[in-house]
Amino acid sequence: MRGSLKLGRIAGIMVEIHYTWVFVFALVTYLLANGMSELVASPVLAWAVAVVTSLAFFGAVLAHELAHSLVANSYGEFVERITLFAFGGVAHLNDEPPSGAAELWIALAGPGMSLALAGVFGGGVILLKLGPPSLEVVHFAFLYLAVINLILALFNMTPAYPLDGGRVLRAIIWIATGRFDRATRVAARIGQAFAWVLMGYGMLLTLRGPGAVFNGLWMVAIGWMLSSGARGSLQRLAIESALSGVTVEQIMTTAPASAGADWSLQRLVYEVILPQRTREVPITWGGQTLGVVNANAVQRVPQANWPVMSVTQVMEPLNPRRLLSPDAPATEALKVAGGGLGPGYVVDAYGALLGIVTEQDLLHAIQIGAWRQQGMAQEARIGRAGGPPGYVYPVPPATPTAPQAFPEQAAYDDGAASHSAPPAVGGGQSD
Ligand SMILES: [Zn+2]
Repeated sequence: MRGSLKLGRIAGIMVEIHYTWVFVFALVTYLLANGMSELVASPVLAWAVAVVTSLAFFGAVLAHELAHSLVANSYGEFVERITLFAFGGVAHLNDEPPSGAAELWIALAGPGMSLALAGVFGGGVILLKLGPPSLEVVHFAFLYLAVINLILALFNMTPAYPLDGGRVLRAIIWIATGRFDRATRVAARIGQAFAWVLMGYGMLLTLRGPGAVFNGLWMVAIGWMLSSGARGSLQRLAIESALSGVTVEQIMTTAPASAGADWSLQRLVYEVILPQRTREVPITWGGQTLGVVNANAVQRVPQANWPVMSVTQVMEPLNPRRLLSPDAPATEALKVAGGGLGPGYVVDAYGALLGIVTEQDLLHAIQIGAWRQQGMAQEARIGRAGGPPGYVYPVPPATPTAPQAFPEQAAYDDGAASHSAPPAVGGGQSD
């Protein structure tokens, strides 16, 4: 996510913090310190406990996301990053889960972790109740953490996709019907309806007075986030269905421009980059693709050196994830070119370059697929109405409906992590 600070890796997963997180962290800490200042004489102590409690809260959000990620990785779903931001955390999944059962366990892992943490902190609350009165502030912190983890588990189990509960619902429908597309459609529509209710309620809340404006806007923001998540999934589904049955070979651009490993930069610029208006050129030698040269890398070399420098001196290795087999489904190319990796390179079993699949190739293929489906649907309607048998309805070119942008990759968005935090602490102050 843009504007994020990388903290480091846990179990191979990069953990990063988005700048919006800082504001919510500050707000939660402030409200906690306010509540705690009534329990201890020293304001410094109140602030110190508040900061630690706040960090523990965000640690709990991270633990929730890690639980999703580790279960996902055990199913081969590669989670590279977890981002903590204002509305909670996101575990970025590379792909949709491979099966309904995988979806079910990945989705349950997060709320399961939050529930377990609520239990641990709840146990602490009971033990601290027996302790001396000087521990009252710690008791307060544990109570807060127990409640917030419980809220995290319960809110995320709302059966509204893309919340965890919506994913559980999708998994159950998927397992019951064996159909991923139908399960996604039902779960995403319920998710959208829930998101609209949340946004409507949030707007009404803002009218109740200045004290409720923050909570109201917070709900609107979470509703909007959930709605766009659900819409993204429906869009992805439409794209995948438009590409169903299509292979990489059918949509690739054949004979892409390339350069030999013995070329100079000068020749590369004047024979390929400028006339073809391309930003990236594959370098081939003896039928093999050795790597790619990016136009930006060429620009960094002083022009005077172009005639004497070889393309191999600025060549970069090709990410193996960008290599595609010609008979692979076109949705594989979607993961490459639509996933921001750049064009996919189609190579045969011997590594020879057959073609490339660019974002443009994919958009074109999605468009044609969408028309084909509309044509088939219309044909079916005419058939039912008693039209001539075998009549092939012409593809209507006037109303393109294919989405023009690629939706985000599948992600575990956990909204509302901190939504209930301010009232749970501030209680009297915020109203
Ligand atoms: Zn979750």
